[in-house]
Amino acid sequence: MKLKKPEIKQNIKQFIVKPGRKVNLKSFDTGWAQNEGMKLLGEERSKDLLVEMLENDRTALASVQDVLWSARSHAVLIILQGMDTAGKDGTIRHVMSGVNPQGCSVHGFKVPTDEEHNHDFLWRYSKVLPQRGEIGIFNRSYYEDVLVVKVHPDILSDLAPDIGTDAKKFWDGRYKDIVSFEKHLVRNGTLILKFFLHISKKEQKKRLLDRLEHKEKYWKFSVADLAERQYWDQYTKAYEDMLQATSTEFAPWFVIPGDYKWVARTAVAEAIVTAIKGLNLSYPKVSDDEVKLLMDAKKKLEAE
Ligand code: AMP
Ligand code: MG
Repeated sequence: MKLKKPEIKQNIKQFIVKPGRKVNLKSFDTGWAQNEGMKLLGEERSKDLLVEMLENDRTALASVQDVLWSARSHAVLIILQGMDTAGKDGTIRHVMSGVNPQGCSVHGFKVPTDEEHNHDFLWRYSKVLPQRGEIGIFNRSYYEDVLVVKVHPDILSDLAPDIGTDAKKFWDGRYKDIVSFEKHLVRNGTLILKFFLHISKKEQKKRLLDRLEHKEKYWKFSVADLAERQYWDQYTKAYEDMLQATSTEFAPWFVIPGDYKWVARTAVAEAIVTAIKGLNLSYPKVSDDEVKLLMDAKKKLEAE
């Protein structure tokens, strides 16, 4: 059985990682802004247009979520990945601000606990997947298990099975596990959309400094982020390998240009809205007999 491809609007398709294609992140422009729109319109005008699109997408998302919730036939899983400061939290806040909190869940994943370490690596994620009718957002995900863990394999040290002597085989095994897991979810009625918020190293420096220049942002700064920045090239390579191995027709990866926050947020919103619309869901049908019962109830209430 061929699994259904999410429907994606033309202007967003360019960000999809073509399945099986070798990925070089240098060829994805972190500063891209709406089809040369910035050059044509200037930054301010281009920003205004995208912010307006985001506003429309928010409204559209609220209405498609209502249908999704009532139809209860599909779940939506949205995965957000990116380097520190890439804008994962802000994207969630802006894109999801219009949706009904009932029917939406957000899960962030930190360093696994001992209990989590003592299970297979997908365990903690599978426990909190969205149910049919819901939109579930993963702020970081099982992809960390082939990103931060690949860059720092010592995180695995006490675990069985270990990397062993063939590291490539070990990581390829994890990619395959992830693809099978996602295939299983899609087959069971989950729409999966995966976004890598792609920022430049220069932009990360700017954002880290910004956190140190404003008192109210100090809490966002972690000394560990600075340490991780030293591994930028290793992370880039891990991302490239992961994107290449796990972008599929049925659960595609989007490399979202992240240096301009309003570009990233709008691109993510556009992709989510069009993909949910593409499910062609409708409100549950009410039979003639049921309508009759409802009308009887209406009459009784009116006669009270
Ligand atoms: P934050 O997103 O700022 O809350 O940071 C969460 C931290 O948890 C990051 O440093 C991640 O690298 C780390 N993390 C998330 N998932 C894993 C994982 N599976 N294994 C190890 N570290 C992880
Ligand atoms: Mg952080």
